[in-house]
Amino acid sequence: MGVRDDAEAIAPELVALRRAIHREPEIGLDLPGTQRKVLAALDGLPLEISLGTALSSVTAVLRGGASGADAQGGPVVLLRGDMDALPVTERTGLDYASQAEGVMHACGHDLHTAMLAGAARLLAARQRELPGAVVFMFQPGEEGHAGARHMIAEGVLDAAGQRPAAAYALHVASADWPAGVCSTRPGPMLAAAEVLAVTVHGHGGHGSEPHHAADPIPAACEMVTALQTLVTRKFDVFDPVVITVGSFHAGTTDNVIPDDAAFLATVRSFSPRARDRLHTSVIALAEGIASAHGLTVSAEFRDGYPVTVNDEAETRFAARVAADLLGEECCVPQLNPMTGAEDFSFVLEQVPGAFLMLGACPPGADPATAPNNHAPDAVFDDSVLAAGAALYAELALRRLARS
Ligand SMILES: [Zn+2]
Ligand SMILES: [Zn+2]
Repeated sequence: MGVRDDAEAIAPELVALRRAIHREPEIGLDLPGTQRKVLAALDGLPLEISLGTALSSVTAVLRGGASGADAQGGPVVLLRGDMDALPVTERTGLDYASQAEGVMHACGHDLHTAMLAGAARLLAARQRELPGAVVFMFQPGEEGHAGARHMIAEGVLDAAGQRPAAAYALHVASADWPAGVCSTRPGPMLAAAEVLAVTVHGHGGHGSEPHHAADPIPAACEMVTALQTLVTRKFDVFDPVVITVGSFHAGTTDNVIPDDAAFLATVRSFSPRARDRLHTSVIALAEGIASAHGLTVSAEFRDGYPVTVNDEAETRFAARVAADLLGEECCVPQLNPMTGAEDFSFVLEQVPGAFLMLGACPPGADPATAPNNHAPDAVFDDSVLAAGAALYAELALRRLARS
């Protein structure tokens, strides 16, 4: 039987695992319950397992050959699945909905975890045929906690004794594509995302006598609008950037001028060039406006995620594998990069590979209007679990065979 049929045969277990993880979602770098479920799912497989120390990651290595050592020196492929949830209150009404108040698997990482565990089973059953090793990277903290960077620091890229020749990650989507349809593109796949933190420092006083104070609020407001002008005047329309101020705070009441005004923005870009230009031009803009009003400002970019760049050859290969496995009609090219961001970008900075989207829109829903990832009513369909597990496994099998 082929990988796809074997995956369908274990689909009920993948559904059960996915739903168990969905019911008990966890946020951030510390996911002890999820880690336990993964370890239980991998129990009995011929894997070398190591656990993270700074985070509750699981790294599992499957070595090919009859004894598991025969493929020593063969190539290594890394497969990544993220495991964390979001601070969202679930409104799906599903019978396996989250039981944790204010926490939800709204980005479908529960499916990634189950699919990767499924791939480990499918590949373990083919251990003899594997001419190399597979690293399964079960990663916490994708949603803003840079879990991938922590796992790299703890050695995931060297877990099999040598650097992977290729790395792949799948991501499900509750909208945009019908269930089972895979999409990817070479080059930039997802944006770089950073937090811009700005605090304008003035001097508080009476609201009726602003000339005796140094009011930070009008200057901060000017910065917010000037940032949008900056986007349209300083950046190539074919290498776009997005700046959205999502938080703005100042003051306590109507007749008191506060000392400070602070805002936070998310900043997205798709090339190192645009990112560098953002770093210099945004800070210069904030300092210039502050100084024009006789104020000072602290403005900084906080740790973000770089652009997720798909390797040209690995992406072509992965799309071929997806088309062969899922059907030509189920593998569509992605025209534009997505404005979301991914910490798999840290892996792809060091290992050539590809990030692929997999539609998981439930039957009966219209992908064009279904609630998106991160929405409290986003629903990801279980039917794609077997396809996702098979795709992970097939990517590793064919990539190792090719080397
Ligand atoms: Zn997400
Ligand atoms: Zn995600």
